[in-house]
Amino acid sequence: MDIKERIITLTKLLNQYAYEYYVLDNPTISDFEYDQLYNELVKLEEDNPSLVQEDSPTKRVGDKVLDRFEKITHKVKMMSINDIFDYEEIKKFDNDIKKIANVNYSCELKIDGLSVSCKYEKGILKVASTRGNGTIGEIITDNAKTINSIPLKLKDELDIEVRGEIFMPKKSFEKVNLEREQEGLDLFQNCRNAASGTIKSLDSKVVAKRKLDNFMYQIVGYKELSTQGEVLEFLNKEGFKTNKESKICNNVDEIISFIEYWKTHKDDLPYPIDGVVIKVNQLKYYDEIGYTVKSPKWCIAFKYPAEEASTILREITFQVGRTGVITPVANFDTVFISGTDVSRATLHNEDFIKLRDIRVNDTIRVRKSGEIIPEVFAVDFSKRTDKCLPFVMISNCPICGEKLVRRENEADYYCENENCKARKLNSIIHFASKPAMNIESLGDKLIETFYNANLLTDISDIYTLENKKSILINMEKLGEKSVDNILASIDISKSMNLDKLVFGLGIRNVGAKVASLLCERYPSIDELINAKYEDILQIPDIGETIALSVVNYFKKEENIKRINLLKEYGVNMKYKKKDTINGVFAHKIVVLTGNLSSFTRDEASEIIERLGGTTSSSVSKKTDIVLAGEKAGSKLQKALDLGIKIINEDEFKEMIK
Ligand code: NAD
Repeated sequence: MDIKERIITLTKLLNQYAYEYYVLDNPTISDFEYDQLYNELVKLEEDNPSLVQEDSPTKRVGDKVLDRFEKITHKVKMMSINDIFDYEEIKKFDNDIKKIANVNYSCELKIDGLSVSCKYEKGILKVASTRGNGTIGEIITDNAKTINSIPLKLKDELDIEVRGEIFMPKKSFEKVNLEREQEGLDLFQNCRNAASGTIKSLDSKVVAKRKLDNFMYQIVGYKELSTQGEVLEFLNKEGFKTNKESKICNNVDEIISFIEYWKTHKDDLPYPIDGVVIKVNQLKYYDEIGYTVKSPKWCIAFKYPAEEASTILREITFQVGRTGVITPVANFDTVFISGTDVSRATLHNEDFIKLRDIRVNDTIRVRKSGEIIPEVFAVDFSKRTDKCLPFVMISNCPICGEKLVRRENEADYYCENENCKARKLNSIIHFASKPAMNIESLGDKLIETFYNANLLTDISDIYTLENKKSILINMEKLGEKSVDNILASIDISKSMNLDKLVFGLGIRNVGAKVASLLCERYPSIDELINAKYEDILQIPDIGETIALSVVNYFKKEENIKRINLLKEYGVNMKYKKKDTINGVFAHKIVVLTGNLSSFTRDEASEIIERLGGTTSSSVSKKTDIVLAGEKAGSKLQKALDLGIKIINEDEFKEMIK
């Protein structure tokens, strides 16, 4: 390929990747690969300036501005930062700067989120916006207001614009992805695209639930301060959260030590970082040092390379999910990546393996995508030997031996034997899980133990365990107290709302959301059982595949039998509609504080919302009720100061009866 062709190809490819990354929040290649291609383009463009394409990504910041949001023109452009990948480039950066002035540097962790700009007038937050394409951003004020660390009011009545990074803490990311998995939705690939996808949601409630966070690091055009270190201190004093790991470094060696330290400690941080930003500390030199079209010259970002390792693939095993889906799993010699030992990774399906020609005994390259989920991303073909035989998909279920079926237009194979042990076991685990019947004391391991002891062979058997108390007490590691706990949580689950039961039944294609849509339309199990295919199709958001699955499920005799047994055991079969108009909390803003003994916070919030209320995390004049549990602290004091109605747990229970 000649140079011109390569430049055109790279430009096209990188623009497509940037679109997937910035607009769709669904990158199709890793940042590492993107950066390599990008740097190749930079180099080619430098050597051949006449061939630079008009739409070159090296001339642009970010990507398309979404029409879904109102737009804002940034008075001062929101720039990108020039990335570097080795220490020689830090030395070069320092040399160039030192030609202009003798400075030191503010080294800051490069938080892997998305940048935000917040404008305050007289100390009140007026507008929050994304970077967009650097010049025009999207207004996301309502969503930004759900982030507790972005103050709505500053300590002083200032007119300022501050900038920083919105990010999703690792814990929130895991929780969000777990919920998405349970609802059958695509997973977010990493914290960054989860944060970006969330902030661009049109529903602020969704944003509030996902628990984003923020660090600020810049004030636009504020002349009173002289160093970046002072900027961070000042931001802190005004009520912003700043990253406390920032450090002033006096020379390249100190910068490198800082980078090295965080290279080995970054996995211990509760938030994601992908590098270190090195900024000239003395603000007065910024204009003199200057800017390129895309980034300031007084600042660079050292990026950590993606952590990966080579290992040997020893075996491909197969997991059988509750729906019968068969997932091939790579089992390899243990490697240490991004802070943990890894020895297994999903291989998704037959097509995934064949496309990459992955074979047992191959030397494979493994990394953690988003530093969390391990993946096999390449084979080292130079190390392939005769012992590496091509992959052949199994044709029978590894657990029950049933012939596997690959359904039309699907990449997955299924075991269609509903009595397959693996399917049965996983469906009981699903039924008891948190988003379904939430039987807290009955964990996965215990279910497996009971299953192997023939105490549980079907979902409905859960409710017969109370008759087998004496057997349970005598089982290894179970005493009377833990058995009582298990039976108590089973008993509580009998009164779960119908949508939880419908989700728990594990009907194909029916996730938690679809289950509540079905129950809103058919508020009792009998109505749902008798629902006609054409009628189900009338429910907005429910299509032919789901409608057919539902009808087929209830056509099967064994499913009806199971439901009848559950009815007999006293499991609730009616749907309590979300009473948003007449509920006791209708139109009320409720704040929870302290610990409740009978509910988790999520449960109490769900009840309040079902009864028409809105929950909020901070007490203000707008708050109607504060629900105060044990050890309630400053929120309770604030509610007392503002004269807001306060209820305790018993009063709450009384209200929701
Ligand atoms: P960037 O992520 O390389 O760095 C600039 C950004 O860092 C700033 O805008 C700011 O938001 C953030 N930042 C975090 N902490 C900071 C701090 N302490 N001080 C200052 N800024 C801080 O730049 P970018 O333009 O947002 O993104 C480019 C990168 O995005 C590429 O290098 C690539 O890795 C990735 N990308 C990946 C794909 C893909 O398909 N995988 C596509 C496009 C871009």
